Amino acid sequence: MDIIPKTRCLRCDGEMASMGIEKIQLGQTGWILGYLPNLISGAIEAEIYVCKNCGKIEFYYTQAIEEEDVIAKVKCPKCGQMHDVDFPKCPFCKYSY
Ligand SMILES: [Zn+2]
Ligand SMILES: [Zn+2]
Repeated sequence: MDIIPKTRCLRCDGEMASMGIEKIQLGQTGWILGYLPNLISGAIEAEIYVCKNCGKIEFYYTQAIEEEDVIAKVKCPKCGQMHDVDFPKCPFCKYSY
């Protein structure tokens, strides 16, 4: 996939310096990552490189970010168990809200 060394600018062959890893929210920044398949949703992490010579910026995909932690939990009023807020019923005691 990536046969060109990361540390070389594609445009001027200058030296690329890493700006670190940034979290990128897909959808809001489609102009940057529009070439990525839409199979990936949510947020990704990308490493940003900038060319010291011409200023060209390159993004390198590193990994998708798991967002399962953002799902809200609710406490069942009957049995007191915590479960995901999108359940119509308590998965433990079948209590219906
Ligand atoms: Zn360059
Ligand atoms: Zn319950």
